[in-house]
Amino acid sequence: RHFIMQSILEKLGIQSVNFGTSTGLQAWASGYKYLSSYSPVDSQLIAKVSESTHQDYQQVMATAQTAFKTWRNIPAPRRGEIVRQIGMAFREYKAELGKLVSYEMGKSLQEGLGEVQEIIDICDFAVGLSRQLYGLTMHSERPEHRMYEQYHPLGIVGIISAFNFPVAVWSWNAMIAWVCGDVCIWKPSEKTPLTAIACQNIIASVLKENQIPEGVSNIITGDYQVGEWLTADTRVPLISATGSTRMGKIVGATVAARMGKSLLELGGNNAIIITENADLTIAIPAVVFGAVGTAGQRCTSTRRLIIHESIYESLKERLVKAYQQLRIGNPLDENNHVGPLIDQKAVEAVAKEGGKMLVEAALLSGDGYESGCYVKPCIAEVEPHFSIVKHETFAPILYIMKYSNIEEALEIQNDVPQGLSSSIFTLNMREAELFLSANGSDCGIANVNIGTSGAEIGGAFGGEKETGGGRESGSDAWKAYMRRQTNTINYGKQLPLAQGITFNI
Ligand code: NAD
Repeated sequence: RHFIMQSILEKLGIQSVNFGTSTGLQAWASGYKYLSSYSPVDSQLIAKVSESTHQDYQQVMATAQTAFKTWRNIPAPRRGEIVRQIGMAFREYKAELGKLVSYEMGKSLQEGLGEVQEIIDICDFAVGLSRQLYGLTMHSERPEHRMYEQYHPLGIVGIISAFNFPVAVWSWNAMIAWVCGDVCIWKPSEKTPLTAIACQNIIASVLKENQIPEGVSNIITGDYQVGEWLTADTRVPLISATGSTRMGKIVGATVAARMGKSLLELGGNNAIIITENADLTIAIPAVVFGAVGTAGQRCTSTRRLIIHESIYESLKERLVKAYQQLRIGNPLDENNHVGPLIDQKAVEAVAKEGGKMLVEAALLSGDGYESGCYVKPCIAEVEPHFSIVKHETFAPILYIMKYSNIEEALEIQNDVPQGLSSSIFTLNMREAELFLSANGSDCGIANVNIGTSGAEIGGAFGGEKETGGGRESGSDAWKAYMRRQTNTINYGKQLPLAQGITFNI
């Protein structure tokens, strides 16, 4: 355990290196394999986390199944009250958890705190939602009949999460699933297990205070193999998986083969179109934040810039200048703009990139960069058809290209396998509306005069094509976590059949 983090880990209830996978599992922590959590900030070993064995998994599953029987009978607004208390608890631990997110994942302290704020915000959203799980009523075609639909909980929701948003994306799923009456089993990324355990500890104390079984919230830890137990398990009606498209294709196929439901939140390859009518004073900071923020490791990071030819050269110059001012270093130091990549494997991927480099990528070494995870963000000039432009490299690499008319810009924007986030910068109403129309962006998120990253929890989040098609967080995304039941009630003395069919006996 790293000494600087000691007090933070202790405040978050992480007491010992030899703990189990959740508070409920401590008793089983013998003879375990361990995940070692190293910080990309300074390559220190923060702590070791025991990996779930298959036996643990079965016990967690049994605990979750039992808890579901209690939880589904608690009225939704009362479940909302528990989630309200969870939100209050996260407010209390925001500083510590935010710092741990930043240190374990490598994002800036502001962004680490921002993730915890997202947990708090989705709790608030879920509390309101707990009184609004509405179904429709319909007029029956038969006399003295009534039809309506209601939503019931699904059961166990399996949540598989990625390293880059180690806690926020889990909370988008868990808080909504909980008010819907589901219980959750969370398999966090093997690269960020500690933040998950901290969340479990915070939740466990709220559940305990309310005499609710801890099995409402469960963690299993380990790599993809532990994830596979979950995806193949028919006791898990819904798998919500966030991560690479490679992972999503495997998970989606496994869940579909057993007729389960999956909610997939996969890779992005997000573009900003900058037209000749753009306000560059807001466009440039949006591009730079989108491309280098979180060291380019957001699913919504800006990876492609499609610039009108009339402003291409001047914008290029301004971008190169802006990149020269970037400060790269320890993300806990608020003066720095760019922190490390998650690990050295991620650094290797940067070296494989191509195009004509306007700002060269470089691995930084020396004082403060000992972890070997700090790279200089780069800009490359490319043609839209280059194969490197079609895939997502999870690093601060920005591809720039030019266009001559808006239809061409939209074609370039849409001509990638992914469909998560997109933006246009323009003050021209026709361009903006075309971008948002059925002939415009094909992405799940389409923004005007803001960048591609930094979504709010109130909207449904997700994307099309290889991004997986899932939607989570706000709007009516909750419907994915419930099963819809259509009810028809006959309060008359006859038995009329639908479609006027007669049947006499
Ligand atoms: P990853 O795909 O390597 O891993 C994500 C999670 O999936 C991990 O918990 C991992 O253990 C698990 N996993 C991997 N293979 C599995 C399998 N076969 N069965 C079950 N579980 C499996 O992704 P990562 O490197 O952690 O995260 C980066 C990726 O996540 C990027 O592609 C990014 O765009 C994407 N992402 C998408 C969103 C979104 O909302 N669309 C949000 C965050 C991250």
